Amino acid sequence: MQYRRLGKSGLQLSALSFGAWVTFGKQVGRSLARNLLATAHDNGVNFFDNAETYNNGVAETLMGDVLADLRFPRDSYCVSSKVYFGAVDNPLPTQRGLSRKHVIEACNQALQRLRVGHLDLYFCHRPDPDTPIAETVAAMDTLVRQGKVLYWGTSEWPAEAIVEAHRVAKENHMYAPVMEQPQYNLLHRERVEQEYAPLYDTYGMGTTIWSPLASGLLSGKYNQGVPAESRLAQPGYEWLKEAVLEHDASRLDKVKRLAPIAAELGVSMAQLAIAWCLVNPHVSTVMLGASKLEQLEHNLGALALLPKLDADVIRHIEQAVA
Ligand code: NDP
Repeated sequence: MQYRRLGKSGLQLSALSFGAWVTFGKQVGRSLARNLLATAHDNGVNFFDNAETYNNGVAETLMGDVLADLRFPRDSYCVSSKVYFGAVDNPLPTQRGLSRKHVIEACNQALQRLRVGHLDLYFCHRPDPDTPIAETVAAMDTLVRQGKVLYWGTSEWPAEAIVEAHRVAKENHMYAPVMEQPQYNLLHRERVEQEYAPLYDTYGMGTTIWSPLASGLLSGKYNQGVPAESRLAQPGYEWLKEAVLEHDASRLDKVKRLAPIAAELGVSMAQLAIAWCLVNPHVSTVMLGASKLEQLEHNLGALALLPKLDADVIRHIEQAVA
């Protein structure tokens, strides 16, 4: 495993990490969750990502249960939660968003579900237009000072809102966001590469990037249709199928153009797509998702490909997805 600093913070995360979205509590039950976390940890993965909203808290409960069972030393891994969407269907106004009340209550609930004394990383899952940024920054600062959260960050916030959070934090001597959690993959790049470009040096932000395979699309598994049991065939995720596969047909063409490049390198398309994310030095960690143990084991192999992605190969990849 390779380890990277989370921006300019002192925290070092494994370049490949592992998250629970869609899978934990839905496609993945207790026994497989245990195998996935054990395999990840055995391979040097030190960051497990979660959120209050993933299967309405069930993903956190399952992860907490398995982490307790596996008895990894608490100082050998990091675990996160994210607040905003709530952990129930049709949440009341106090059960969602980034108010001081919900940020603090959601943190306490995540600590209970995950069975840990602190969250290593805690994210504001989306910006909240109904809460002043200063209120959210102050709530996060409180949690850091209480020792319940070590590093706080944002997820899919516009750059200008992140800048505002830093301004408020600096003016009030409060803890500022350390990391962003944006989508980043070969088909979705603008925010990380352009919008956030000024943030890395100025504020020392790191990134924990999500959907490196665009929900599996970049593995090539959807090239001939939607396999039964795949993510895009899951009941309740029709919206994701529309967003990933149907909204823009050119995405599938780009994926198909990547196939010969992967073949020439002697790797799978999934490994190529994951390794490509790691070429960007502003990516602190690439969060993997997996519904099967073989997927995780296979995707961890992407790290070995990194040295082969020289300027020539990158140019071919850029041409394929242009
Ligand atoms: P990916 O884009 O890598 O998608 C993972 C899915 O792709 C797997 O569950 C599996 O789905 C399929 N897959 C994985 N590997 C392979 C393979 N080798 N061959 C074929 N299919 C494969 O990542 P995620 O979208 O899961 O994102 C990673 C993590 O990021 C999440 O778990 C979550 O923690 C976080 N996240 C954060 C968000 C945010 O808003 N902050 C949003 C989304 C995710 P299947 O087998 O079911 O087809």
